[in-house]
Amino acid sequence: MDIIKKILLVILLTISIQLSAIELISLRGNPVQGGILICETDNSVEKIFLDHKEIPIFENRTILGFDRDEKLKHKITIVLENGEMYTSVFYIIKRNYSIQRIDRIEKKYIEEPRDSILIQRISDESEMLAERREKIYSNKNIYFEEFCMPIIDGKITGVFGSQRILNGVPKKPHNGFDIAAPKGTNIMAMTTGVVALTGDYYYNGKFVLIDHGGGLTSIYIHMSKISVEMGDYILKGEKIGEVGSTGRSSGNHLHWGIGWKNKRIDPELLQNMDDVFLKIKVR
Ligand SMILES: [Zn+2]
Repeated sequence: MDIIKKILLVILLTISIQLSAIELISLRGNPVQGGILICETDNSVEKIFLDHKEIPIFENRTILGFDRDEKLKHKITIVLENGEMYTSVFYIIKRNYSIQRIDRIEKKYIEEPRDSILIQRISDESEMLAERREKIYSNKNIYFEEFCMPIIDGKITGVFGSQRILNGVPKKPHNGFDIAAPKGTNIMAMTTGVVALTGDYYYNGKFVLIDHGGGLTSIYIHMSKISVEMGDYILKGEKIGEVGSTGRSSGNHLHWGIGWKNKRIDPELLQNMDDVFLKIKVR
């Protein structure tokens, strides 16, 4: 056999080996602090663990999320039906968050309440929200599809993760994305899900919490009007309410928050979910 034939044979063999490789999992999205990765799995995958914690799979899909200040090194473990196990270590990217100074805010918007009845109300409301979130985390279904912005024409007035200094006093980092728009502007669901809670709370004002499955939630707060009810199945882009300034808000805007289990996710990153980050294959 001459040398060219030998080379061709090697190329053909390599191609056929690669063609027969099984892609066990594929992760796409944003491997950064505040990002999520959507994971598609092969039928042979039985379990996935992120840092030793099992992440439930639903119809060959699951989702992983990283908090604002999440550690950078992670380990993913895949267990196949036949008991084989594969592990991969990956790193997410560290982010630098901006410092946002907002001055001349009226005192009523930043002062902590002192009235005991009000303090009790705030504590009850935060408990109700936390309880509902816990229930969502135990729901193994996945509803979400692709993502969209909840407001089409709005002005971005606050970004995720920024440290806020209000009238010179440092506050907790901002855990959502603010979009200013006129009162009555339609607010749409960022993706498919089930309405898990609605209410009119002291801080949130009128709000809608949606369970998108797999531990992913979105919350829309300070609404002037709520158009959905608990238990409603909502499609991506469907109207759920209208922009307002209810609760503790200093102007008409939507505060849009996203969670993956108890981690805070950056809504802005959801507009860019197509990049494949990691694939694990076997032959
Ligand atoms: Zn906000």
